[in-house]
Amino acid sequence: MQETLPLMEFFYTIQGEGYHQGRAAYFIRLAGCDVGCHWCDVKESWDAGSHPQVAVDKMVADAADQESDIVVVTGGEPLMHDLTNLTGQLKDKGCQTHIETSGAHPLSGQWDWVTWSPKKFKNAVDGFGQFADELKIVVYNKHDFEWAETFVKDLKPGCKLYLQPEWGREPEVLPQIISYVKEHPEWRVSLQSHKYMQVP
Ligand code: SF4
Repeated sequence: MQETLPLMEFFYTIQGEGYHQGRAAYFIRLAGCDVGCHWCDVKESWDAGSHPQVAVDKMVADAADQESDIVVVTGGEPLMHDLTNLTGQLKDKGCQTHIETSGAHPLSGQWDWVTWSPKKFKNAVDGFGQFADELKIVVYNKHDFEWAETFVKDLKPGCKLYLQPEWGREPEVLPQIISYVKEHPEWRVSLQSHKYMQVP
């Protein structure tokens, strides 16, 4: 059982992206990522060894002490770690467990909401789409629309579909996303609205 996890940061804020955008949520950002997106905005999360190992009990106590029930586990790539103990304890405290993952490692833990954001830099494990409550594709260039469609056939029924501009490319890419969603209304636009709100 994993009793400690490498923790980069934790914060209580507003979920900025996807289906739960606008909702208060407590974020646990675990350290460690082997995916290597060149546009990553949290590269300091990649090296798990440069962050402290924190007791899962302590993380859960802090998370459960917030007004919102939603706890978002993100990274880094959180599935580099076995999250069974973390989510088991969060569920025992009545928390809603959400994860944001590339799917590059097998799913562990019990989740109320799985945000799957596959990346071109490391393939997701086969069949990961069957766990996804939302598919969120970060769009960096035009080819990403075609790439996004390759995931749709293997998703869990009812999975929501989001296209989100990579932050640095937003001026160019957002108009393309708007046009695409108008032509393919099964997709929705996701923006990193926390950056507009200037919250973490
Ligand atoms: Fe960064 Fe996430 Fe890509 Fe890892 S998966 S490199 S944390 S954007």
